[in-house]
Amino acid sequence: MIDVLIIGSGFGGLGAAIRLKAAGIDDIVILERFGKVGGTWRDNTYPGAACDIPSNLYSYSFAPNPNWSRAYSGSQEILGYVHHLVERYALAPLIRFNHTVVDARFDEPAAQWVVTTAEGAVFHARHVIMASGGLANPSFPAINGLDSFTGHKIHSARWDHDYDFTGKRVAVVGTGASAVQLIPELVKVADKVTVFQRTPGWVLPRMDYRAPGWNKRLFKLLPPVQNALRRALYWGHESMAFSFIWNTPMTRLVERLSTAFLHQQVKDKWLRRQLTPDFTIGCKRVLMTSTYYPALQQPNCKLITWPIATVAPQGIRTAEGIEHQVDCIVFATGFEVSKAGTPFKITGIGGRVLAEEWARGAQAYKSVNISGYPNLSMILGPNSGPGHNSALVYMESQIGYIVNTIATARREGWRSVDVKPEVQAAYNVSIQRRLAKTNWNSGCKSWYLTDAGFNATMYPGFATQYARQMADFKAAHYRVESLS
Ligand SMILES: Cc1cc2nc3c(=O)[nH]c(=O)nc-3n(C[C@H](O)[C@H](O)[C@H](O)COP(=O)(O)OP(=O)(O)OC[C@H]3O[C@@H](n4cnc5c(N)ncnc54)[C@H](O)[C@@H]3O)c2cc1C
Repeated sequence: MIDVLIIGSGFGGLGAAIRLKAAGIDDIVILERFGKVGGTWRDNTYPGAACDIPSNLYSYSFAPNPNWSRAYSGSQEILGYVHHLVERYALAPLIRFNHTVVDARFDEPAAQWVVTTAEGAVFHARHVIMASGGLANPSFPAINGLDSFTGHKIHSARWDHDYDFTGKRVAVVGTGASAVQLIPELVKVADKVTVFQRTPGWVLPRMDYRAPGWNKRLFKLLPPVQNALRRALYWGHESMAFSFIWNTPMTRLVERLSTAFLHQQVKDKWLRRQLTPDFTIGCKRVLMTSTYYPALQQPNCKLITWPIATVAPQGIRTAEGIEHQVDCIVFATGFEVSKAGTPFKITGIGGRVLAEEWARGAQAYKSVNISGYPNLSMILGPNSGPGHNSALVYMESQIGYIVNTIATARREGWRSVDVKPEVQAAYNVSIQRRLAKTNWNSGCKSWYLTDAGFNATMYPGFATQYARQMADFKAAHYRVESLS
């Protein structure tokens, strides 16, 4: 039996392994469905792919990288950082590639998880950490005629690097965070780019810059300087919670800034109108880009705001009856976000099935534990999504909590540790009450909410509040069973 089984080798799974090892727990196996590590940054290799939180904050605090080449690094550089983590912390021997978890079942008498993969392997583990990613499975829109298209189809998260866009007529469906990064790059090479927009998002300029050599040397020589920059970036992003999470005078101010940016970059009144959002900033993900609006105004780019009626063999037909003929459709349509159900079958105490309990929306205790599923922890689980700060800040505090729980269980001789149902219920009542007052729940349609409007994804507070609650493990909140 393995001590800790980790599912997924993205930032979450690898970060958990690093911290477990540091706590002296090294009987670890990491299962990864694909042949390489990196999760998000292995999969999102579309042109222009980059983080939209500065790299000095979108990295682990325990593994600073003085060599970031830009303020906002590209996906390949972030992937390089992930590979560096694997090497520096000697994680390679722990990883089993090409193992897709399809089932996890808690064996009550043995107090262990039995995890099965699609390839037929079975693993027994005392503790399981699910780090399979909230944005790991690409989603295609439910559009009529999708299969009838005879041209090329590409999803932003599964880029086809063999396809040559030179001279091609390309349609981009979606105008979210990935679309605004890839459209400026496509416009440079394609003959024509037609962008299909459902809802315009709020856009803020991205203060990107190339890091000068002296900057890297300084960070290497004096790590506290880089740490000070990280702290400044952290508090700068924390202050954005006043604009993005809650509707405050700061929200109006940032909306005005965004509108001024639109006016500065787009002179055409009609185009500006088409690009003006009709919801409160923060309700959907805010787009950080200085190159999107200019790209839309290139002579070979056209924005279409009519709803798509159907995909036809030669292109896309919109509701007013015009068919836009294209050679390739790029779907920048996001991911199947884990808001309800589970990515694979998870069976807990007494045969309870998590997908059934989560059918109307996922819930957990502090995002990491679920009552009735002992010794199971999640990274970026329900209600841990940030709208204003680095996901890695949240992840780091979750990892700290999980390692603390497992280390306590080992020290105290607990064979199982399961959060009490009433503790989880009270936590979620409070979370949902607080969410009701946020911009996410203010009426727009976004991937944060289920179709019924339940918010199972976002944390309604500052990253600092989140981290503070994660620093505090209360054994009294759990039912524990000791080894006899
Ligand atoms: C394009 C893009 C840009 C982003 N930019 C930012 C940003 O700037 N700032 C920010 O804070 N966040 C950003 N995010 C969010 C990002 O997803 C997280 O920051 C972080 O990378 C998630 O890490 P993870 O380890 O939880 O999940 P992932 O990186 O998704 O890793 C999950 C891993 O689990 C594996 N896996 C999944 N299912 C199974 C299974 N059944 N069996 C075995 N293995 C499995 C996957 O193959 C993958 O390797 C971005 C996301 C995307 C898609």
